[in-house]
Amino acid sequence: MKVLVLNCGSSSLKYQLINMENEEVLAKGIAERIGIEDGFVKHETTGKDKVVINETLGNHKDAIRIVLEALVDPNHGAIKSMDEISAVGHRVVHGGEKFSGSILITEEVKATLEECSELAPLHNPPNLMGIYACEEILPGVPMVGVFDTAFHQTMPKSSYLYALPYELYEKYSIRRYGFHGTSHKYVANVAAEMLGKSLEELKIVTCHLGNGASVAAVDGGKSVDTSMGFTPLEGLVMGTRCGDMDPAITTYLMEKENISSSELNNIMNKKSGVLGISGVSSDFRDIEQAAAEGNERANLALEVYYKRVKKYIGAYAAIMGGLDAVVFTAGLGENSKECREAVCKGLEFLGINISPEKNDVRGERRIVTTDDSKTKVLLIPTNEELMIARDTLALVK
Ligand code: ADP
Repeated sequence: MKVLVLNCGSSSLKYQLINMENEEVLAKGIAERIGIEDGFVKHETTGKDKVVINETLGNHKDAIRIVLEALVDPNHGAIKSMDEISAVGHRVVHGGEKFSGSILITEEVKATLEECSELAPLHNPPNLMGIYACEEILPGVPMVGVFDTAFHQTMPKSSYLYALPYELYEKYSIRRYGFHGTSHKYVANVAAEMLGKSLEELKIVTCHLGNGASVAAVDGGKSVDTSMGFTPLEGLVMGTRCGDMDPAITTYLMEKENISSSELNNIMNKKSGVLGISGVSSDFRDIEQAAAEGNERANLALEVYYKRVKKYIGAYAAIMGGLDAVVFTAGLGENSKECREAVCKGLEFLGINISPEKNDVRGERRIVTTDDSKTKVLLIPTNEELMIARDTLALVK
């Protein structure tokens, strides 16, 4: 059985075709510049050369059609016919309070997802476009929605409620939802495997540090708190997002700079984070390099970033009443030993002792603490696509 996993963004579409018999990736790629000029698809079938297909991608349907053509292409394709695709798994960012797990997509589910779009106006509409496009191009093929928010639906009310008038929660569903759930769930499961323990007995803090970044407190396999909130803006400092700050800054800035709410949104989401502090870049590779060359603001950006992660680890250890493991994943978490080391420095009181030798690694599963470290720190490459494919398979079977 082969499952196609789709992650549709506003102007891009990432995909993987996975053979569920052995969970091997048969092909993967990305379609970029959808709805803009100069669209292209970078496609790679495992064991064959990468190809770039230049084609105008007017909308998501065009993009999915080109991707499917690439998948069945006699030269660079992975399958003989589209009939080999048994199911499609869609990453859906926001499932609101309605979905606490993955779900087979039906008319009713689509209607509910349309409602959730209001909560994630940047993310859910392209996710839905992918679903509608697949319905047309692959009629009759079952589809499953896998939500970024689902894993965090186990949070107790005391974790997800904001201290605003309660009526606003009731009226607008304003609460903490959390994101990156598929990734937090995946790495927590792998951590238990690597530690040879059952997830039920572990208190884990999972740090997903990519372009977007969030931390989750996973107690006994359940998310009990997480740093992203009503939107993916809260919590950690990110590439271009500010994360936590005094909410009064928003109204102050709007008045002082005479800017609209959408301009302020743009500042907080696109011009802040390590880009905003450093003035260098939103990419940690550039910032680490600039800092190494003596750029003070780049260095400051890293310090602020690391401290915020550390703060959440401490807070979540307190909330769970203990800590067995900390997991680092996603672009920065998997690749930057400097980041793991800086975040964990000073956490010896929590039983964390990083081994510089073991931590000198990137992109592979490894425990990076010393053998006698009471609390383990693990590097675990995330695999959201595989999680989506597994859930899809389980639901269509
Ligand atoms: P996304 O959230 O888009 O899936 P990723 O998890 O791929 O993002 O993370 C991308 C980010 O990871 C990059 O912007 C970069 O800051 C960081 N990153 C990737 N590779 C490295 C590296 N070798 N060293 C430091 N940071 C890295």
